[in-house]
Amino acid sequence: MIACKQVAKALAKQRYYEMPWWRKVPMFAHIKLCVMCGKYHQQVVDMQHGVKDYLEHEEAGEIEPRLHLSDDAKQRMEAALKQD
Ligand SMILES: [Zn+2]
Repeated sequence: MIACKQVAKALAKQRYYEMPWWRKVPMFAHIKLCVMCGKYHQQVVDMQHGVKDYLEHEEAGEIEPRLHLSDDAKQRMEAALKQD
Protein backbone atom coordinates (compact mmCIF):
# COMPACT_ATOMS: atom_id res chain seq x y z
CA MET A 1 0.00 0.00 0.00
CA ILE A 2 1.25 3.48 -0.80
CA ALA A 3 1.86 5.98 1.98
CA CYS A 4 -0.27 8.99 2.91
CA LYS A 5 2.60 11.25 1.94
CA GLN A 6 2.70 9.76 -1.54
CA VAL A 7 -1.03 10.37 -1.98
CA ALA A 8 -0.70 13.97 -0.86
CA LYS A 9 2.29 14.53 -3.10
CA ALA A 10 0.65 12.98 -6.13
CA LEU A 11 -2.59 14.93 -5.66
CA ALA A 12 -0.67 18.18 -5.31
CA LYS A 13 1.32 17.48 -8.44
CA GLN A 14 -1.40 16.15 -10.67
CA ARG A 15 -5.17 16.18 -10.70
CA TYR A 16 -6.72 12.88 -9.81
CA TYR A 17 -8.77 12.64 -12.98
CA GLU A 18 -5.72 13.27 -15.14
CA MET A 19 -3.76 10.37 -13.67
CA PRO A 20 -3.31 7.16 -15.58
CA TRP A 21 -5.37 4.27 -14.21
CA TRP A 22 -2.34 2.51 -12.76
CA ARG A 23 -1.79 5.49 -10.51
CA LYS A 24 -5.46 6.07 -9.81
CA VAL A 25 -6.16 2.54 -8.58
CA PRO A 26 -3.68 2.45 -5.67
CA MET A 27 -4.58 6.05 -4.89
CA PHE A 28 -8.28 5.26 -4.85
CA ALA A 29 -7.71 2.21 -2.66
CA HIS A 30 -5.68 4.25 -0.21
CA ILE A 31 -8.28 7.03 -0.01
CA LYS A 32 -11.04 4.49 0.59
CA LEU A 33 -9.16 2.52 3.23
CA CYS A 34 -6.95 5.01 5.03
CA VAL A 35 -8.31 6.33 8.32
CA MET A 36 -5.51 8.87 8.56
CA CYS A 37 -5.93 10.83 5.35
CA GLY A 38 -8.78 9.13 3.52
CA LYS A 39 -11.45 11.62 4.48
CA TYR A 40 -9.30 14.60 3.63
CA HIS A 41 -8.12 13.27 0.30
CA GLN A 42 -11.63 12.24 -0.65
CA GLN A 43 -12.54 15.91 -0.35
CA VAL A 44 -9.55 16.88 -2.48
CA VAL A 45 -10.58 14.42 -5.17
CA ASP A 46 -14.21 15.58 -5.05
CA MET A 47 -13.09 19.15 -5.37
CA GLN A 48 -10.93 18.35 -8.37
CA HIS A 49 -13.88 16.61 -9.98
CA GLY A 50 -16.00 19.65 -9.28
CA VAL A 51 -13.48 21.88 -11.01
CA LYS A 52 -13.39 19.51 -13.96
CA ASP A 53 -17.18 19.56 -14.24
CA TYR A 54 -17.19 23.32 -14.08
CA LEU A 55 -14.56 23.65 -16.80
CA GLU A 56 -16.40 21.24 -19.05
CA HIS A 57 -19.65 23.11 -18.66
CA GLU A 58 -17.91 26.40 -19.17
CA GLU A 59 -16.40 25.18 -22.42
CA ALA A 60 -19.80 24.03 -23.55
CA GLY A 61 -21.21 27.44 -22.66
CA GLU A 62 -23.51 26.00 -20.05
CA ILE A 63 -22.40 28.03 -17.07
CA GLU A 64 -24.79 30.92 -17.57
CA PRO A 65 -28.08 29.06 -17.37
CA ARG A 66 -26.84 27.48 -14.17
CA LEU A 67 -26.14 30.85 -12.65
CA HIS A 68 -29.44 32.22 -13.89
CA LEU A 69 -31.04 34.35 -11.23
CA SER A 70 -34.70 34.19 -10.46
CA ASP A 71 -36.72 37.34 -11.18
CA ASP A 72 -37.16 37.80 -7.47
CA ALA A 73 -33.41 37.69 -6.84
CA LYS A 74 -32.84 40.12 -9.71
CA GLN A 75 -35.31 42.60 -8.31
CA ARG A 76 -33.76 42.41 -4.90
CA MET A 77 -30.32 42.95 -6.42
CA GLU A 78 -31.52 45.94 -8.43
CA ALA A 79 -33.14 47.42 -5.35
CA ALA A 80 -29.92 46.98 -3.42
CA LEU A 81 -27.93 48.66 -6.20
CA LYS A 82 -30.29 51.62 -6.35
CA GLN A 83 -29.94 52.30 -2.69
CA ASP A 84 -26.76 54.30 -3.07
ZN1 LIG B 1 -3.46 7.83 4.10
